[in-house]
Amino acid sequence: MNCPYCGHHDSKVIDSRDVNEGIRRRRQCLGCGSRFTTYERLQSATLFVVKKDRRREEFSRDKLLTGIRKACEKRPLPTGTVDKLADDIEAELYHQGKAEIPSAVIGDMVMERLKSLDHIAYIRFASVYRDFTDITTLKQELDTLLSAEAKVSHPTSQLPLLPDDRLEPLTKGHRRGRMKARVKR
Ligand SMILES: [Zn+2]
Repeated sequence: MNCPYCGHHDSKVIDSRDVNEGIRRRRQCLGCGSRFTTYERLQSATLFVVKKDRRREEFSRDKLLTGIRKACEKRPLPTGTVDKLADDIEAELYHQGKAEIPSAVIGDMVMERLKSLDHIAYIRFASVYRDFTDITTLKQELDTLLSAEAKVSHPTSQLPLLPDDRLEPLTKGHRRGRMKARVKR
């Protein structure tokens, strides 16, 4: 396979892994040094992505990667997060063993993962992929995210208000009271 960055015809394999029914190879271009991934299926079946207008296009990990990378641009994510995300999705797609996958399914898979990873990246991806035409839909999505975030962060941010030694008798007493009440019933 030619290098997707410079078109050079030769590359060396730096890592290869069995993935379900195929082999995933990490390659380095001997021309420009860029790294890219190839996937070889043992049954030589290609995975096709069915677009909204029913056109079919061969699945491209690089395209997937580009979309995710754009959404995650300048976000404080650990190195390798984006690649890992693309890897996970690619592996899951091939694992399903289907010949065709609707692009919407892949989009949902990305959104689901970005949602738990980084909300800004999620909103960026969603606004491109879901094509939020009106601001109300986007606001609804943001509100859902924010209320979920508030629920999660509340208990941890409230705890340090009291020192542990003062907090403990309070919680113990509370617990005892609740146990008594339960016994009576
Ligand atoms: Zn190259």
